[in-house]
Amino acid sequence: MTTLLLVEDDRTIGQALESSLELHGYDVHWARAGGAALGEAQRTPFDLVLLDLGLPDLDGVEVCRRLRAMQPQTVLVIVTARQDEIDVVVGLEAGADDYLVKPVRLGELLARVRAHLRRGPSTARQSIAVGGLLVDTAGRKASVAGQEVPLRTKEFDLLARLAEGVGTAVSRETLMADVWDAHWYGSTKTLDVHIASLRRKLMAGAPSAEQAPVITTLRGHGYRLELPQE
Ligand code: CA
Repeated sequence: MTTLLLVEDDRTIGQALESSLELHGYDVHWARAGGAALGEAQRTPFDLVLLDLGLPDLDGVEVCRRLRAMQPQTVLVIVTARQDEIDVVVGLEAGADDYLVKPVRLGELLARVRAHLRRGPSTARQSIAVGGLLVDTAGRKASVAGQEVPLRTKEFDLLARLAEGVGTAVSRETLMADVWDAHWYGSTKTLDVHIASLRRKLMAGAPSAEQAPVITTLRGHGYRLELPQE
């Protein structure tokens, strides 16, 4: 059975989400505060977490960060009333996989939950170590020749996806579908921006330019990750 953690302090919203999710066959644990959510996460491994950022006891972003550290493989979806994009960006950097802005339509939430669960744990694949590049998907850390390269959430996901097939072309469509969420599908500009910053960081993070992994652009198709010969 799929087990979900619902973190929501609003009684009305919480009840609506809980009953709707249970109706669709999910095992729902409902935590009404941040502390309770962390307690639940200590006892139960969750397939997916729906996390409200505005909590009565703890800062939601901090709760997000701690949940991510406790359960690296869970899918973490922020559900927030905050319109401020900064909160969303900070939340994504704190390890969230996706976000929904309140008021959330139940149909959309269920579709998103199903899509995430179908795709499986976003970070569940084991570490990839090849040619001096280490992509630790559980710890969400990347290093080149033993030197850690600090990456933002999507940069890391991109690298992890490309590193699954070193020397293999990965199409733009595949990268968008695997790394981004459905509502970002339309604009692939974000892909180019992230590739550019990932390239910069890999270059800056490698002890020398010769040791840096290279992301080759395949015009009209996508990208390919190449590693220096050892
Ligand atoms: Ca709230």
